[in-house]
Amino acid sequence: MIEHTPTYSLADVDPSAFCASCGQCCKRMPGNISPEQLQPDVEANLRRLLATGNYAIDWWEGDPRGGPFLKSGIGKAHFLRPRHKSRPGKIFDPSWGDSPCVFLSDNGCILPRSQRPKECLEMVPVRGGACLSTFPKQRAAIAWLPFNDMLERIGHDVSKSE
Ligand code: SF4
Ligand code: SF4
Repeated sequence: MIEHTPTYSLADVDPSAFCASCGQCCKRMPGNISPEQLQPDVEANLRRLLATGNYAIDWWEGDPRGGPFLKSGIGKAHFLRPRHKSRPGKIFDPSWGDSPCVFLSDNGCILPRSQRPKECLEMVPVRGGACLSTFPKQRAAIAWLPFNDMLERIGHDVSKSE
């Protein structure tokens, strides 16, 4: 289960020297969290993480299972990730590419590996920059579909209370 308190130790820095000397992912876009990482109580853990101010709700436009033309009634498919450093207090945030992940320090990720997003844990580094994500935005949005309404509701609750 993901905790909200970052604890940093040298042993937790990404073991891949390849990634440690690069870090381009973390500088542009925080990794996506899987709802399985918030089990057994997804709702309580979602509230707790959002209340820390370190996480944001992002979304896929339309239904991620079928693109914009699938008539499922899903306008936005929400999912959870850490927030960007440049956007404190912004719970709903679809932006990417222009600000580092809030957990990126000069020494790498401050989260212990057990608390990192699924996408961060599963990135496949490839020389030449063609690195592969096994849990990109679309897959994250599909995984969070059973919790889509919950994400929106709790996101608005937390936004109002700030
Ligand atoms: S996955 Fe690729 S882009 Fe990301 S930090 Fe590792 S080497 Fe860099
Ligand atoms: S949580 Fe850590 S590994 Fe993942 S994007 Fe943020 S700084 Fe990088």
